[in-house]
Amino acid sequence: MTHSKMRVGLIDVDNRLPSLPLMKIKSYYSVRNIAAEFAYPLNYYEYDPLYASAIFDFSDKEFVPRRAIAGGTGYDPATRLPEEIETCQPDYSLYPQCDFSYQRFTYGCTRKCGFCVAWKMGTFEELAPMNLNPRGKSIYLLDNNFFASERWRENIKILIGYNQPVQFEGIDARIVSQDDEMLHYLNQVKLKNHGLHMAWDTPGIDMEPDFKKIIEKIKPYKITCYVLIGYFSTEEQDMHRVQTLDALGISPYVMPFNKSNYYQKTFAAWVNNPRLFKTIAWDTFLKNRQRKQIERWKQNEIKQGDNAFPFIRECQNKSLYGGQNE
Ligand code: SF4
Repeated sequence: MTHSKMRVGLIDVDNRLPSLPLMKIKSYYSVRNIAAEFAYPLNYYEYDPLYASAIFDFSDKEFVPRRAIAGGTGYDPATRLPEEIETCQPDYSLYPQCDFSYQRFTYGCTRKCGFCVAWKMGTFEELAPMNLNPRGKSIYLLDNNFFASERWRENIKILIGYNQPVQFEGIDARIVSQDDEMLHYLNQVKLKNHGLHMAWDTPGIDMEPDFKKIIEKIKPYKITCYVLIGYFSTEEQDMHRVQTLDALGISPYVMPFNKSNYYQKTFAAWVNNPRLFKTIAWDTFLKNRQRKQIERWKQNEIKQGDNAFPFIRECQNKSLYGGQNE
């Protein structure tokens, strides 16, 4: 029961995944008998303070009032909750529909990849594990680089003990491929489908031998591999990585560096839909998509300024598909 008249407003900017910081903020205030609940633009005035949390930088933040205390990787990767809130257990009652638990044993990353926000979160830190969601049926592990921790053995034993399917967000293929003991323990964890998330982001590094080593011990269908494209990579390198992974039985998942770039968006749309990726050649997929866009352009549905417009202009210049608007 809450007694204080103070009301704390919580704004989930992305509205995609339950927000761990907001659950911790709710927990912090609830034990002090202060109500903390979701706030919406029409009733912002009822709350003080207001907290806003965003994971993604592309989320629309226009509706967040300037007085809100805003944080999360979607604002600035270096922002942290104050220590007294950060150490609270998450209050899952904020998201009654949430049927999984977050867990994290480390914060940040030991590597420094230029395109990534993980290492900008601050120095790599070991954390005490959190309580699980009482209604949770699986674990979503937030560690960016789980095996970079010196405590990986005790942490993975905790995960095995949960006996719930786990999704690993960050397994560093270059570390685990060199260590049979890590692979052995990984195999003991109950995994969600494709629940081992690895990455082959740098095309200049040949990771095929690492993945070959890994799948000697771990079934490849358990692995999803992120492939960053458009960050100093050529189309040939992008194709090489996704085809190599596919041939090994690992699911590639393309991450466009520039989500509004026509090629990057289209390549991701092809690879990330296994039904299309497995049955239609890239050239055919691209041609079909282009043909549809030419039709839309002819019907004036695509205009200058749209994402697809540079592609249409290129077709005009090359006199492809009839060239000028007829
Ligand atoms: S290893 Fe992964 S998590 Fe760490 S900085 Fe590189 S991309 Fe980010």
